[in-house]
Amino acid sequence: MKTVSCLLRAACPMLCAAGLLLPSGAAMAGDLSNRYEITARFDPASGAISADGTFTVVADGDVAEIRLLLNAGVDITAFTFGAGEAARIEPVATFGGEVLEKTQAIIVTPVPPLTRGDTLEMAFSYAGHITTDDIFIGRGVVSPGWTEMTLETLWYPVWLEESLVRSRVTLEVPEAYEVIGPGEATQIAPGRWTLDPGGPVGGRITFAMSDSWVMEARALGGGLSARLYSVVAEPEADEILGTVSAAYSYYAGIFGPPRTDKSTITLLYPNIDPGLVYPNQAYATAGDFIVMNLSNLEVQLDTLNHEIAHLWWSAGQPGTADEFLSESVAEYLAMRRGGAAWGESWLAKRRSTLDAAAAEAEGSILTLDGFGHARQSLLYEKGPSLLWQLQDHIGEAAMDGLFRDAYDRRTETLESFLSLLADREGEQVAGWFREAL
Ligand SMILES: [Zn+2]
Repeated sequence: MKTVSCLLRAACPMLCAAGLLLPSGAAMAGDLSNRYEITARFDPASGAISADGTFTVVADGDVAEIRLLLNAGVDITAFTFGAGEAARIEPVATFGGEVLEKTQAIIVTPVPPLTRGDTLEMAFSYAGHITTDDIFIGRGVVSPGWTEMTLETLWYPVWLEESLVRSRVTLEVPEAYEVIGPGEATQIAPGRWTLDPGGPVGGRITFAMSDSWVMEARALGGGLSARLYSVVAEPEADEILGTVSAAYSYYAGIFGPPRTDKSTITLLYPNIDPGLVYPNQAYATAGDFIVMNLSNLEVQLDTLNHEIAHLWWSAGQPGTADEFLSESVAEYLAMRRGGAAWGESWLAKRRSTLDAAAAEAEGSILTLDGFGHARQSLLYEKGPSLLWQLQDHIGEAAMDGLFRDAYDRRTETLESFLSLLADREGEQVAGWFREAL
């Protein structure tokens, strides 16, 4: 499971898979996002699903093989693509040498291999059942009162190697259901919805639905509002929505309003566990869809502070794919916000836990590679720990100036961040920081 543990987030409730949203006009030259057009019919009462659509690969680099993962609860009824290619089905999928239970793989070998910018369109249809018992690699649940169909349920053919996707999904569900997702979920007819995240998103195509959930909304100011969806009325809704509001104000105070056209943040909180697989996994997608885990309230709110920071760092920073600037910075900022909200002793304890974990991190953020625990530890522990050391050295006001500058300049890479650090604080500080990464 190690190779896909970046998707699981099960061991550490703090971790999040931030979906990156590019500007919605991004159908520009150089847009290498892969495209999905899917029409799916789904019944959460039985898990019955049938889907058809197309998946168009736009190669980011050399591609000799495309390994698509799909839930084994469905039968592939058609799979077609360009002449010359070969495809085979692996009934029990392997990924990075690990067996993925309840998962099948469709392996396509392009002939000749694709190079950067090449496209390959595949058309598919499949049908069967996806129930909670069919979910293996990560978070998800299927029930009338609460259904989460995320990447980890493998409800659509998922290509893990290139994660930036544009998607347009039409969903047919029983009429009693409400559907939500990143960006816009629009009911176009009774029982018929379209899902549009608004632009290319890093990570996942996801939606949630229910015939009975409760929703509480709150205006956050600045034209932004939040909606909290839960299984039953959430007694801590005020505190949760208040945390989102306060975190938003705190970051807006440092950076100004986020560069995003989002007007609503959707929070998904299954406050009575509906039987989730991996309930400790949290994530944010497209900057406006935050899925909360089931840990205690303190950890929940700490995680929310991290997810809201992604409105500026990743989702609010168009084009930024750098994971240090997304995850390590969001985690550092979340601790800043937590310290402001909960006091110095909370922060001291949190830093001490972080530093101890960071000391165990193996490898360098400069050479992040692959999935797994080492990568997580570098991004979520070593990265923020070093940012705190930098703050100890240059002070909070200088950190604010550095990050405000980085945000204003749309700093997109770790290298350009290091150059900016050198410009502002001198080569010696930047050299030390680079060495420590
Ligand atoms: Zn994150």
